[in-house]
Amino acid sequence: MFQTVTKIELWLFCEILTYLPNTAHVAGQSDQEHKVQNTLKASVTFEGVGLHSGQSARLVINPAAAGHGIVFKRTDIALGNTLVPALWDHVERTALCTRLVNSAGVSVSTVEHVMAALAGCGVHNALIEIDGPEVPILDGSSAEFVRGIMGQGTHRLATPVSAIQVLKPVTVEKDGATATLLPCDRLMIEFHIDFDEQAIGRQSRILDLRNGAFVRELCDSRTFCRRVDVENMQANGLALGGVPGENAIVFDGSRVESGEGLRHSDEPVRHKMLDALGDLALAGGPLLGRYVGDRAGHALTNTLLRELFATPGAMRRVDCDLAMTARLPGQGLVRSEIPHPSRRVA
Ligand SMILES: [Zn+2]
Repeated sequence: MFQTVTKIELWLFCEILTYLPNTAHVAGQSDQEHKVQNTLKASVTFEGVGLHSGQSARLVINPAAAGHGIVFKRTDIALGNTLVPALWDHVERTALCTRLVNSAGVSVSTVEHVMAALAGCGVHNALIEIDGPEVPILDGSSAEFVRGIMGQGTHRLATPVSAIQVLKPVTVEKDGATATLLPCDRLMIEFHIDFDEQAIGRQSRILDLRNGAFVRELCDSRTFCRRVDVENMQANGLALGGVPGENAIVFDGSRVESGEGLRHSDEPVRHKMLDALGDLALAGGPLLGRYVGDRAGHALTNTLLRELFATPGAMRRVDCDLAMTARLPGQGLVRSEIPHPSRRVA
């Protein structure tokens, strides 16, 4: 009950913000300032092993034109359609990661961390070449992708960003987990988790994604699992590239196998928020709405997007004016705020 009231209150708060006077055109602001579809200034390359397949891959994020969106290209496949759009209706299997597949059956797995990095850095257009079936897991977070993207810098394409504005609440539920989208004038992510593992327990966090918050607060939080799940996953051909402490945190009761220690005391819930941002980035444009995940995973967030697009009147596409543009996650990034790789709290 408490949670329900809280959500309604927050929704009303966001509703009020949504209808505040539009401040897009004030003295001294150019008509061009809101035209900020971005791409990268130059290509950036990442190499590493896939968490689930254990296969090595080289991934290159290349600049692309306005309106291109984010598209993967499998360079190890010579024939047929090797382009895989990073869109919600191309998601096939979502048990432990997000896998995209095109009409020819060509797929790319574990796209969520690079998608979160692109969304968090405000990159709207890119062609991502990859010579294997799975995105490299790197350190298990989005931090290396963010460092690479911000190191190269972004290039403005003089075209307004087409955002997806949530107009009315949409909720999906499965096995006691829920995922909800509420109207809000910016992207906010709220997440709640509850694990039996003492070292995780109950964790909750709410984040306003404006002003580079993703880079500061979420991008270095690593993927995690429970020790009891590791053997189970590997018996099912998953997590073959997982190395506790190197690219994943493993929780075992009150024990934490993470090599360097935790980067945040609530690193697991922050990683779930990172995953949510990556999965929401498959909407096909930045979301203006409030996401609330309660023990949700990749599958449920994808089901939520499907529900959003299937529900009449639940969303609309809108070209961002200056005020909307200022609230997008990629605005206000500061390179010095990328977390240092050695940061740890425990
Ligand atoms: Zn993840």
